[in-house]
Amino acid sequence: MTLVNEGFTGYSSREGQSRVNTLSPQTFQNSRALFLAGNPALDFLNTRMRMNHELVDFLQSDRDVISWLKQAGFAVSADTEIKRFSLLQSARKLRENIRSLVEKRKAGRQGDPSVLNLYLAASQSYSQVVWSKSHSFRIDIVRRQNTSESILAPVAEATAELLATANFELVKRCEDKACVLWFSDQTKSHRRRWCSTQICGNRHKVAAYRRRLRQQNT
Ligand SMILES: [Zn+2]
Repeated sequence: MTLVNEGFTGYSSREGQSRVNTLSPQTFQNSRALFLAGNPALDFLNTRMRMNHELVDFLQSDRDVISWLKQAGFAVSADTEIKRFSLLQSARKLRENIRSLVEKRKAGRQGDPSVLNLYLAASQSYSQVVWSKSHSFRIDIVRRQNTSESILAPVAEATAELLATANFELVKRCEDKACVLWFSDQTKSHRRRWCSTQICGNRHKVAAYRRRLRQQNT
């Protein structure tokens, strides 16, 4: 399973310049969340997936949520871990709202973004100029993270962007009927069918091969 994330270093362009203190990589090295969707909102949706016919939720604790945010490249303030938030509950609530919105958007129906909008409203960020000794300038975005909704606001913002600007012809659910994973098809041919060749693609290939063998033998 870890092979799927090989080479993934987070959606760093979004929050990479942030000045917020970050947690050490050791805190999330044991997480098993997948990053295969090509979009942070869809990867967040994919933290609930089907494994061996059962739905598995990778988010089981506040720490799992923090770990996921870090892996996705979103800045998390160092003291977030110490404070007590209902982060897990908030993350699951946001995720299931994202699921409903993405499914409805894909089906061409109208959804209710009021839950998503609550998380968007919780976002508090400001810019800071950093003037380095080498006389180079950069602008850092600093986030205030004093509620669980504000910690999750970057995920809500990624979702809003996805809903408003993505071509939903290319936002796809894995073609394996038992699979619940979504992805953004960024292939040149726009013919990506599977969440991952290692998860569903290979299984389908083996099944097709067996079918062909059976047909040859009859
Ligand atoms: Zn799949």
